Amino acid sequence: MTPRVVLGAGAVDRLPAELDRAGWRRAFVISTPGRAAETDAVAAVLGERVAARFDRAVPHVPVAAVGDALAALAPAGADVLVAVGGGSAIGLAKALALRTGLPIAAVPTTYAGSEMTTIWGLTDRGVKRTGRDPRVASSIVVYDARLTLSLPPELSAASGMNAMAHAVEALYAADADDETRARAESAARALAASLPRTIEAPDDLEAREATLHAAHDAAIALNNASMGLHHRLCHVLGGRVGLPHAMTHAVLLPHVVAFNAPAASEAMDRLASALGVGDAPAGLAALNRRLGIRARLRDLGLREADLAAAAAAAADGEYPNPRPASAEDVRAILAAAF
Ligand code: NAD
Repeated sequence: MTPRVVLGAGAVDRLPAELDRAGWRRAFVISTPGRAAETDAVAAVLGERVAARFDRAVPHVPVAAVGDALAALAPAGADVLVAVGGGSAIGLAKALALRTGLPIAAVPTTYAGSEMTTIWGLTDRGVKRTGRDPRVASSIVVYDARLTLSLPPELSAASGMNAMAHAVEALYAADADDETRARAESAARALAASLPRTIEAPDDLEAREATLHAAHDAAIALNNASMGLHHRLCHVLGGRVGLPHAMTHAVLLPHVVAFNAPAASEAMDRLASALGVGDAPAGLAALNRRLGIRARLRDLGLREADLAAAAAAAADGEYPNPRPASAEDVRAILAAAF
């Protein structure tokens, strides 16, 4: 099902009417800790429709967090999950939707794009599993760029490059159709234009709106394509080592794309054109620098001793990627980003 999408500054004010239209009256409002300002803003417009609030969503959806949320959800008598936040809040809503069948209304406050995919993730004892299920599709998505104004530059940059990674992997996925590739290319072009503005002028609402919209498109593209080595590596590093999701995407992307480039020449041409550069991997690295992203994997908490095990875990089993990658190849990619 395609969600109803409400756009624009002030869009949150239209959420109650959207819930009414669907006949949903009792919202279970989900957020990550520390997001009181954004969540209060949504709760205020929902008024008495708020059945309960749960503000303990954490990255990568650990099964224990799902258990805590289910315990809070049970007595609330909610008929809709309202996720306010980034991929962590929306990811928890997806896990709850899988268990309860409740619909999701998503109010994204980052550029992670989870609201537009049917991809769920769940982490159990250091292993992150992902899958696809129509039950986790959002029914309503409200993009109100005002809620992203509080996103600090480092998070805006990293989250924007997470969106870029969605466009990139959709561009070279073997199973993406022409429309998906075109959408991915235009999302990459739009992100390359809007992200620097978002960082250089964090209060520029128009730039924020453009970035949200590009992230939305990139996520739709990813939803219509299989994920390759880049996403696999990010899931391994997130699930096993707990690295921050968006920044891991940003740091790894130029390195994985450099590895895949010889096997994806058409996608590289399109990506280079979208970035306005001659060489796509170098263009991604330059965009990172322009956005102030200078971290390496070592700065994100990866230890050198983890490299081989992470490479082996990522290389294990079958997955689609333009270029087959051995454990040695993956180790070299990780070492370059380390
Ligand atoms: P996040 O949701 O964990 O948010 C990162 C941090 O930013 C948190 O501390 C959060 O409270 C804070 N934050 C969020 N919005 C803010 C705002 N407007 N102002 C200030 N701070 C704000 O991070 P994320 O990168 O959005 O999502 C990461 C998670 O989402 C990972 O678990 C990842 O696997 C998942 N994800 C899933 C999909 C999918 O399609 N299923 C896609 C992308 C990411």
